[in-house]
Amino acid sequence: MSQGVTTRPEGSGQPLSEAYDTALLDLDGVVYAGGSAIVHAVDSLAEARAGGMHLAYVTNNALRTPDAVAEHLTELGIPTGADDVITSAQAVARLISEQVPAGSRVLVIGGEGLRVALRERGLTPVESADDDPAAVVQGYGGPELTWGRFAEASYAVARGLPWFASNTDLTIPSGRGIAPGNGAAVEVVRIATGAEPQVAGKPLPPMHRETILRTGAKRPLVVGDRLDTDIEGAFNGEVDSLLVLTGVTDGRQLLAAPPQHRPTYVDADLRGLLTGQPEVTEDGAGFRCGGWTATAGADQLELAGEGDALDGLRALCAAAWTAAGDGSCELDGGKALARLGL
Ligand SMILES: [Mg+2]
Repeated sequence: MSQGVTTRPEGSGQPLSEAYDTALLDLDGVVYAGGSAIVHAVDSLAEARAGGMHLAYVTNNALRTPDAVAEHLTELGIPTGADDVITSAQAVARLISEQVPAGSRVLVIGGEGLRVALRERGLTPVESADDDPAAVVQGYGGPELTWGRFAEASYAVARGLPWFASNTDLTIPSGRGIAPGNGAAVEVVRIATGAEPQVAGKPLPPMHRETILRTGAKRPLVVGDRLDTDIEGAFNGEVDSLLVLTGVTDGRQLLAAPPQHRPTYVDADLRGLLTGQPEVTEDGAGFRCGGWTATAGADQLELAGEGDALDGLRALCAAAWTAAGDGSCELDGGKALARLGL
């Protein structure tokens, strides 16, 4: 990773699947969406793995167990073992186990993934604030979680017990739209108690530490679709990252990214693992990538040339991020992105 503030996407002469030993892949918006595999994901992952890259899947969703996630991926045509799935439930269970006596009871507001992860660390999940818990943990519980569970958490937190959250994603995508995520549930208890939880999930260090401990990765590449979880998590862990555009991030958000949200590489989808990455160079005319040249004008980003749309986006990133320095670029990139069809 380059020193200082990232001001342009990096190039790579080698395919990323050879330059890095392990891909730490986000799931939703990267591997699948709404239960189905994302275009090119199955073939690209098979090829990366055949070439020797270790694939691990890293999710903030604490509801499903690693077994259930691995089964889902395998059904989609991506053969995966439970050991290759790392969840925020596992990260928060380790965090709790470091702060309470061995074998402690933990009040669980959440689903099966959280209970399994606690047992794995020798902790005993309990359901009531009156069951003598040593800590409280909240993870996504799915649509069946009832309001009474937040009351249970609030009673225990108000007594001064240490409070943990698997993650604080405010929303979670569902087949019917955007639903409240664990972060919204955590807010309910925060409002009721005035307390602050310790959080494990992306982009925070406990989650990254869990992925490294479980995968043994020496040179990991974080692969994600979201700037404020996947890419910021890689930034906090000081490892390289690949942003794919198959999920929630669009060109406009990418150009406006502050330093901690700037990925090392940008590509359309997981085929980006199998190729090198083009350099963005700078000369008197501006930032060049492929057939494109990008510059920062007085109030908007300018783009000239022709070629592959992703090269145009990489050139625009360099112009925008350089203009923004350690802030967020406020120049309008709308016209330039429209030229690229992005
Ligand atoms: Mg995602």
